[in-house]
Amino acid sequence: MRIRFDNCDLFDGVGDAIQPGCHVLVADGKIDEVSETAIAGEADRVVDATGRTLMPGLIDAHVHIAAAVPNLAALEALHPTYVAHWTAQYMSAMLDRGFTTVRDVGGGDAGTKRAQQEGLVRGPRLFTSGKALGQTGGHTDFRGTSRVDVGDLQRRHLPALGRVVDGVPACLAAARDELRLGADFVKIMANGGVATPTDPIDWIQFTPEEIQAIVTAAEASCTYVAAHTYTARAIEHACVNGVRTLEHCNLIDDRVAGVLKARGAYAVPTLIIYDCLDRHADAIGLGGANREKNRMVREAGLRSLEILARAEVPMGYGTDLLGWMHQDQSTEFMLRTQVLPAADVLRSATSVNAEIVRRPDLGQVTPGATADLILVDGDPIADIACLTGQGERIPLVLQEGVVVKDLA
Ligand SMILES: [Zn+2]
Repeated sequence: MRIRFDNCDLFDGVGDAIQPGCHVLVADGKIDEVSETAIAGEADRVVDATGRTLMPGLIDAHVHIAAAVPNLAALEALHPTYVAHWTAQYMSAMLDRGFTTVRDVGGGDAGTKRAQQEGLVRGPRLFTSGKALGQTGGHTDFRGTSRVDVGDLQRRHLPALGRVVDGVPACLAAARDELRLGADFVKIMANGGVATPTDPIDWIQFTPEEIQAIVTAAEASCTYVAAHTYTARAIEHACVNGVRTLEHCNLIDDRVAGVLKARGAYAVPTLIIYDCLDRHADAIGLGGANREKNRMVREAGLRSLEILARAEVPMGYGTDLLGWMHQDQSTEFMLRTQVLPAADVLRSATSVNAEIVRRPDLGQVTPGATADLILVDGDPIADIACLTGQGERIPLVLQEGVVVKDLA
């Protein structure tokens, strides 16, 4: 299958500017040619892209495709196959918004990944962590102070986003178990969380030895660890013990941003979820203490982007949305461009996130790269709003050279 784009404006996922008047040929799932002059030869389809921008498919590096409902404690009580149907719906909508790849950091698993690969489920290419690992009373433990039962802390048969483990041997076993089940990387909770009942934001989670054990298990399997962290203390705790991608990072400071930079770590901010939790606190039934935790991290969000940019920490694009809030997946673009140049934000959602998922063939439009592409009505550097909504201004989406959305 050969598809030729004539006369497009090109954002290649790497540069600062959009190049007008480009011609791109896709053949056998790859970008075959990028040229400033017309490309000759046969093609199965020719797209006149005049006035439109061709760019890499978007990548979201922090999603929860199995978060069928916004209330994560309620999620655990739902039937797994019911949740799977919501997952399929959220994935399809992500593809319509132009997201051709996503990294799931808790809940997504190898079964859904296989279903997407085999075409049973329409959606982005998946990278998954399986269930996130957290400690007793941490950000995977929803029991609260009034439940004294032990419960199924491994949540093996529940549609929970995480499991509960304590101590080095249990951490090693759980990390290895998730990798056995097909996880692409390991996710841990290393800091208090907004939605959980018994872990304030200033508490760090897991000991250095526990984190090091999980990192050892991941690296032995040629992969890495991602950690949920807000405060500078928690970010440093996770990073110096070997974590590669630091999620959220709302309360980072300049010194710890320097630690991330020096260690070659990545930050994946996720501002839109705090905005949504604030707007919809009543509908979700967010408790008073959880609202206060949300206020703390939400107000620090934009400042954290400035700190990370100043320290030149590579920044991915993440959203962390739950349930019906997924519809705001692309609103993150609007929040970030309040403080960052649009080209930087676009690179976060393309070539930087491709590095994060360790697939440098994604996230760029260069010869030899995998042909995940979107066609955009408008110029996303001049007006990033053309990427927002539900993909209304994204008429064409390609995954590995195959058209998966076609309104062109
Ligand atoms: Zn998350």
